[in-house]
Order: sequence, then C-alpha cells, then structure tokens
Amino acid sequence: MAAMDRGGPVIPVFIWEDDPAVASMSRWWLARSLKNLQRDFLAIKSCLIVRKGDASEVLMALARKTKAGAVFWDKSFEPAQRKVDEAIREKLVRAGIFCEVLNDSMLFDLARILNKQGTPYKVFTPFWNYCLSLEGPSAPAKSPVKLPALSRWPHSEAIETLGLKVRAKWTEKMELLWKPGAQGASVALRKFLDGKIDDYPRERDRPSVEGTSKLSAHLHFGEISARKVWHETRKNMASERRPGMMRASEAFLRQIVWREFAHYLLYHFPETATAPLRKEFSKFSWRKDARLLGAWQKGKTGYPIVDAGMRELWATGWMHNRVRMIVASFLVKDLLQPWQAGAAWFMDTLADADLANNTFGWQWVAGCGADAAPYFRIFNPTLQGEKFDSQGDYVRRWIPELSKVPVRFIHNPWLAPPEILTKAGVQLGEDYPEPVVDHDAARKRALFAYDRMAKNRRK
Ligand SMILES: Cc1cc2nc3c(=O)[nH]c(=O)nc-3n(C[C@H](O)[C@H](O)[C@H](O)COP(=O)(O)OP(=O)(O)OC[C@H]3O[C@@H](n4cnc5c(N)ncnc54)[C@H](O)[C@@H]3O)c2cc1C
Repeated sequence: MAAMDRGGPVIPVFIWEDDPAVASMSRWWLARSLKNLQRDFLAIKSCLIVRKGDASEVLMALARKTKAGAVFWDKSFEPAQRKVDEAIREKLVRAGIFCEVLNDSMLFDLARILNKQGTPYKVFTPFWNYCLSLEGPSAPAKSPVKLPALSRWPHSEAIETLGLKVRAKWTEKMELLWKPGAQGASVALRKFLDGKIDDYPRERDRPSVEGTSKLSAHLHFGEISARKVWHETRKNMASERRPGMMRASEAFLRQIVWREFAHYLLYHFPETATAPLRKEFSKFSWRKDARLLGAWQKGKTGYPIVDAGMRELWATGWMHNRVRMIVASFLVKDLLQPWQAGAAWFMDTLADADLANNTFGWQWVAGCGADAAPYFRIFNPTLQGEKFDSQGDYVRRWIPELSKVPVRFIHNPWLAPPEILTKAGVQLGEDYPEPVVDHDAARKRALFAYDRMAKNRRK
C-alpha cells in the first residue's frame, strides 16, 4: 500500500539469497507460498518478479532497469537478515533511491518499547501490559483489486529454479495437511474463529484435539499479518457475544503478543539466537551425546509423550505447543543435551520454523532465557502425559505399536506387568524402546548440574 500511495507502477519483487539455514520443511512451504503469491498478483493484473542472488545487487540492477525511484520492504528481526537489510538500504540510498522499511509483520513498533529504566523488558507480563496501554495496532488496509502495472515486466526466474524442491515422497503427505499462501491463511483463521476459539482456553493444552489456530507457519511466512489476526479476533469477539468469548479471545491474543515478545527479545538481544540470554548458562555442563540426541529426534526415547511429539513433528512438520515444551524439557534436562541442538532440529523440521519464536521457546524451557521457567521446574514426562493426554489418544495416534496398551500404562509402559504387555502385543526393547534414562535419576543429575553452575557463578 505504501508503494501504491507514492504513485506510479508497483513492481512486486521476491529475491532468494540461497540460505542454507532454511531447511527442507521451510523450503517446501516457501515454494508453495510463492506459487500462490504469484497467482494472487496475476489476479490483480500484476506480476511477482522472482530473482536469486545478492539482494542488494539484484535490487540495484532492477531499480536501474526499471528506473524505480523508491523501494519498500518489511522489517526483519533476525540478526543476519538485519545486516542484509542495512546493506541494501546503504546501497540504494547512495544511489539516490528512496527506501522505506515497514513494520508490517508485527503489531507494535518493537524497537521503541522500553521500560521505565530505558532498557528492554525481560518479563512478559509488564511487556503485555505496556502493549495494552498503547494505541491498538491499526487495521490492515484492504487488499488492492488492481495494482498499477508496468507496460513491460522485467525478467522473472521460475520458482522451480530456486532450489526449493525437496524429496517428492515425503512432501506428498504435506500437500494434504497444509495450504500455504494467503488464502490458506485466511481459511485457517476463519475456521478457528468460527469453530474453535470458544474452547481455546480449555483445549489449547490438549494435544489430541485440534484446539489451536495452526496459524504459526502462515504468520512466519507473512501470508497473514498479526494485525489482521488481531482485528478479526476483536471483531469476532464484539459480534458474537457468547459467554466466555471475551476470555477466549484474550487468551488467544495473548499468544499473538508472545510472538511479539519473542521477536522483541531477538531484536534487542540478537546474540541470543545462539547464546543464552542468562550468561551464566554458557558455562552449563551439557553432556553431548549423539546417540541420545538421535533417539530423541527419531521418537525412540521410551517415553511415549516425548516420542509421540517427535513423531508428529516428523510426520507433519508441526508439533503441539504443550508437547514442544515437554520434548524440549526432556532433551535439555533429562538428557542434558544443549538447547541449541534441539533448537537446530526444530528449525530443520518445523513448517513454522521461526528463529525468534524457536529461540525464545528453547531458552524459556532451558531456563536460560527471558521470563523463563525456573531451571529446577523439571517436567515429569509421565505426569505431563497423564495430565494433558489423559486417555492416551495422542500417544496412540503417533505410536501405533502402543495402541493396545491400557490407559493406566500408556504413559509408562515399562511399569506394565508382562502379561498386559503381551496382551497388547508389545515387547519392550523390541517393538518399543525401554526408557533411555530413568527420569528420577535424570532429574537429580540435572539439578546437580544446575547447582554446580550456580556455585561456579558465585565463586
Ligand atoms: C521449544 C519451543 C519451540 C518453538 N518453536 C517455534 C517456532 O519455531 N515457530 C513458531 O511459530 N512457534 C514456536 N513455538 C511456539 C508455539 O509452540 C507455536 O507458535 C504454536 O504451537 C503454533 O501453533 P498454533 O499456530 O496453532 O498456535 P496458537 O495457540 O493458535 O497461537 C497463535 C499464534 O501465537 C503465536 N504463539 C503461540 N505460542 C507462542 C509462543 N509460546 N511463543 C511465541 N509465539 C507463540 C504463534 O505465532 C501462533 O501461531 C515454540 C515453542 C516451544 C516451547
């Protein structure tokens, strides 16, 4: 809209600087998202120009060729992308081209939010309260029905040449599960607001039901804006007036502001993409072990709720938030593997892989981030399973070999008497693994490692 308001033709551009950090699942999503974006621009008599290469050089060349006087793009919060943005801006401004960086993917101007001491917030609730005290985010503009076009479009690469293609067999399933693109995003939001939001506060912690919006990848790829989600949710709340609607909408919008908080932290503390926010954790004595990491990645730890989550991730490119917390806690506390190893696996396999949200999530669980769960609060995977998957439906869905295990033992099959396991057709160690660690012993070991780190800090 900003480009349209300036007058003259608008040239939509996507530049792919092949980034090895973008993994298979994200590549799959991006390829589809771009295809749909191309179609959406065609529908408004425009054309998405796709190029690959160094973004500042490509933009300069395009600007020269088309005599463009201004370039607009959306602000990034990722440290590497911020450097790229800065390089682009410098080059374009030096060439006399007007640049405007918009804040379209966030609700608030995160760079400006500071506490009374003039430093960034590190606790969510005051951040949330501060956001609520601001003028609400402006409503998104209506999509244009026509975009002022050039008489001759510059050359555009085919999306197929960008190297985003991933193995066909694996992606077949994904085609059935996800609808990348703006249309898919709007459908997902509508489906959530029309049918699920009422139950969100109650169902959002139950991984066996589809109680959340599944908007994360759409938000990450910019297919829907947080402002649209915010305004549609509020409009829905005002028009529906069902009991509990206000509470449900607020619970959901609070999650959208957690996303703001994660991006806010990455913006103000860019080093946290790889290093803990709480510096003392850089001396934590992790016990790197490729075998244990592999068992966790494959969903073969012997703890059903952990394994179900890891298998859901592998099969669908998504994992329920409650289960993300459980599997992350298990990796960093029960297995003492560095949170960075888990974060890297998530970045590799999640459709919604997002540096800000992922870093925040992992550091929160590991106890080394902002407003983090205290390190000594160690999830017991069996109790978590019993609480949030009380009938074992989620576990049975993702671990068919346990499907006949009775509810009483579904989260701790190693405690089941042999005759029950035989009846359920399970031989532990053969059909399903024995636990890779004993949780009680692992918990003590984790607390010991934490105490040692804390003592070293005081020295
Ligand atoms: C270890 C760990 C890693 C995570 N990695 C990612 C990641 O790479 N990408 C990602 O988008 N989310 C990540 N999350 C946050 C959260 O799990 C997902 O956003 C959520 O499960 C997505 O499902 P949904 O869209 O149905 O969520 P909903 O419950 O419908 O929430 C709506 C939106 O709010 C935002 N949101 C919700 N919870 C969080 C949160 N805890 N932190 C930040 N934003 C949140 C998301 O954008 C989400 O789409 C991670 C959480 C943990 C514990």
